[in-house]
Amino acid sequence: MATTSLPQSTPRNGVSEVHILWITAGLSCDGDTISVTAAEQPGIEDVLLGAIPGLPKVYLHNPVLAMEVGDDFMKHFYQAEKEQLDPFVLVVEGSIPNERVKKDGYWAALGTDYNTGQPITTCEWIDRLAPKAWGVIACGTCATYGGIHAMAGNPTGAMGLVDYLGKSFRSKGGLPVVNVPGCPVQPDNMMETVLYLLYQAAGLSPVIPLDDQLRPTWLFGKTVHEGCDRAGYYEQGDFAHEYGSPKCLVKIGCWGPVVNCNVTKRGWMRGIGGCPNVGGICIGCTMPGFPDKFMPFMDQPPGATLSSTIAVSYGRAMRALRSITNNTANKEPKWRHPGSKLTTGYQPATY
Ligand code: SF4
Ligand code: SF4
Ligand code: SF4
Repeated sequence: MATTSLPQSTPRNGVSEVHILWITAGLSCDGDTISVTAAEQPGIEDVLLGAIPGLPKVYLHNPVLAMEVGDDFMKHFYQAEKEQLDPFVLVVEGSIPNERVKKDGYWAALGTDYNTGQPITTCEWIDRLAPKAWGVIACGTCATYGGIHAMAGNPTGAMGLVDYLGKSFRSKGGLPVVNVPGCPVQPDNMMETVLYLLYQAAGLSPVIPLDDQLRPTWLFGKTVHEGCDRAGYYEQGDFAHEYGSPKCLVKIGCWGPVVNCNVTKRGWMRGIGGCPNVGGICIGCTMPGFPDKFMPFMDQPPGATLSSTIAVSYGRAMRALRSITNNTANKEPKWRHPGSKLTTGYQPATY
């Protein structure tokens, strides 16, 4: 897999504290924040309470987890905009709506402009904060690639953060947006990425390695299938035909062979879970092409018929076919863009 070209080292810079400004006001269900509360490698509490050696002091400003509300909460965002919270890491959760296609009102906002009394759109916050952030993380598939809100026919023109900011965007720390997909994000994947960037900000780690979809390479370099407990059944051509079976789920809709995700290796909480390991088909929720390229869910994916007959003898041919499908699933649909025209195929309801 191609990698993104980045500077080779980060000098020690003596950063003693870092703020994390976490916006959940994309088109979001807050599921990624909730998921991250289950992290243990490291736990969010470990990072905030200083239990990890070498880390700068970390302050988290997340509207779902904060004790503060209203102006007390929002003041951190205004301070960051004025570069009074330097350095800070910006986390965005939820897909980015296209406000340019909204004639009246707005799609998503956070806080109120004191001068006008009008809501400040999420896009405006991203414009204000992203260039001033030391690092920017897109958390969850909505924020990384658009996700569910960006599927065909949507009226919001939703997209991922990189679609919005552009591929050439670089944060103050010289990094592109760091993508940690998943719907929701796997808790330890997100916290491990945060931890890596905090160490990098403190000058204690090399530059984070990212793949061509800007995902941390060590987290998304393998497929679901490569870590699946059921892979032995697959190799024997022994397939489940109904839920509840311990066998390989490919014939009832599992996309694991072409999906970059580590939950079958890592589990979900404390190593337990990981969709196919515990009986759920992989629907490709980490992928740039999700959900459109994996629908309808629960139908047999392409290649599954071949799997049942020639998986063992024609392994090399199968892998070549899969890499074509993996490439397709690693591409976003073309309607996700910040242009002024809605191209999702949305048709208003007529009554
Ligand atoms: Fe919710 Fe999934 Fe979107 Fe996260 S990626 S905001 S969990 S829908
Ligand atoms: Fe691969 Fe899915 Fe079968 Fe697991 S259940 S072996 S991921 S196809
Ligand atoms: Fe998403 Fe598939 Fe990974 Fe489950 S196994 S988290 S459905 S990509």
